[in-house]
Amino acid sequence: MVLLSGHVMPRQEGHIFMVDDDRCFGCAACLALCPVNALSLEGLLAVVQESSCTHCELCIPSCPVFALDIVEENRMVVLV
Ligand code: SF4
Ligand code: SF4
Repeated sequence: MVLLSGHVMPRQEGHIFMVDDDRCFGCAACLALCPVNALSLEGLLAVVQESSCTHCELCIPSCPVFALDIVEENRMVVLV
């Protein structure tokens, strides 16, 4: 059993949690690990409620296709 209370990571200032929608295939492994239920599935895509995400990074190693990351907001590339 993992106790997470008392181990709340501060959010990483100027960073944002990202799901790579080209990689995610909706396996839900990350959802099971999030202690604050910030992740949910929309079809076969994991989506994050950024305001709930604590940037604890617990979910990131669970993704088999490396779709999760916490990146600097000003390094985000918007593809249109
Ligand atoms: S980084 Fe932590 S709080 Fe954010 S979605 Fe992943 S497990 Fe949840
Ligand atoms: S673990 Fe990775 S592939 Fe699975 S739902 Fe989460 S982001 Fe998508």
